[in-house]
Amino acid sequence: MIFCSLYSGSSGNSLFVASSRTKILVDAGLTGKSIISALENIGEDPRELSGILITHEHIDHIKGAGILSRKYGLPIYANEKTWVAMESCLGKIATENIRIVGSEFTVDDLDIRAFRVPHDAAACQGYTISAEGKKVSVATDIGVFTEEIRRNIKDSDLVLLESNHDVEMVKFGPYPYELKRRILSEIGHLSNTDCGLAALEILKEGKKKIILGHLSGTNNLPELAYKTVENILVEKGLSLGKGMDAELSLASRIRPSSYTEV
Ligand SMILES: [Zn+2]
Ligand SMILES: [Zn+2]
Repeated sequence: MIFCSLYSGSSGNSLFVASSRTKILVDAGLTGKSIISALENIGEDPRELSGILITHEHIDHIKGAGILSRKYGLPIYANEKTWVAMESCLGKIATENIRIVGSEFTVDDLDIRAFRVPHDAAACQGYTISAEGKKVSVATDIGVFTEEIRRNIKDSDLVLLESNHDVEMVKFGPYPYELKRRILSEIGHLSNTDCGLAALEILKEGKKKIILGHLSGTNNLPELAYKTVENILVEKGLSLGKGMDAELSLASRIRPSSYTEV
């Protein structure tokens, strides 16, 4: 399987996931134009996509979903509550492209499982996508790392895990009090430290590629996110690098990240 983060961060999210036969996006939270240009940038043709999975209705996850669906006839997959919450923002979607899904479904040869994550949206969910004996997981927009998340992503080969903010940067940053409270709450976003602890849990189950994503542009720095998670893992005796306990990397907020094969 192939995984490539086109954009991952508070200003917009869209991930490309593919088996040798099927290509999909998880979220489409930037303009259609930005997503098409990112796909072209990594050598992918948007006309070959089979659909878009939506995690939740926040604009940084759905902004371009309607336009891409109309332009390429793409089905949009989301749970019922998310459909209700996002439908008016998407514009007109052809009836056959409205796919209301439960916790398990398939898109061609991709076996997909949705799992609940705590976030202040109608019914936010993460996804595991399996094909050809490999499994890729997406877990962003999570206020806390729950047992349900751990259980679902445990045997993944690759996990995109949220490392949204540095707690001190939020506390002393420019956001209004209410927004700070929301980000730091159990239905907000995962901090760098909590991401490191979550990564530690996940790695107990075996080697993985872990990509840190959904970084805040205001309350985080890429090097800080990476270092914080790295320190937590190394302190517990894990070794990082190719073929080691974990391969740790970072998804960019503003451009496609490296094309990863699992
Ligand atoms: Zn959100
Ligand atoms: Zn988000």
